[in-house]
Amino acid sequence: MSVITQAELEPDPLITETICLRDECRLCVDNCGVQGITPLEDVDRESVFMNMPSLVDKKACYLKDSYGAICWGTCIDVCPVGKE
Ligand code: SF4
Ligand code: SF4
Repeated sequence: MSVITQAELEPDPLITETICLRDECRLCVDNCGVQGITPLEDVDRESVFMNMPSLVDKKACYLKDSYGAICWGTCIDVCPVGKE
């Protein structure tokens, strides 16, 4: 659902700390049914703090998971961030 408004809303503060647990977690990488998420090692990890720095095989992601069905975001479902 989308809401369109011209109301002046107070924004939340910007996130300034790393929230992805990265190598201590890797649940998104390990649970992708098409092994479509490839972590990137060659990046400034401190500049990417919301998600695992990675390449996603968008074609494999779009087509099917390991059971032959379209995946509806297992990588997001398993992510522990924000669930506590
Ligand atoms: S949506 Fe599903 S298939 Fe696509 S990257 Fe995430 S876990 Fe993998
Ligand atoms: S599941 Fe979430 S917290 Fe864990 S590595 Fe992936 S993006 Fe980071």
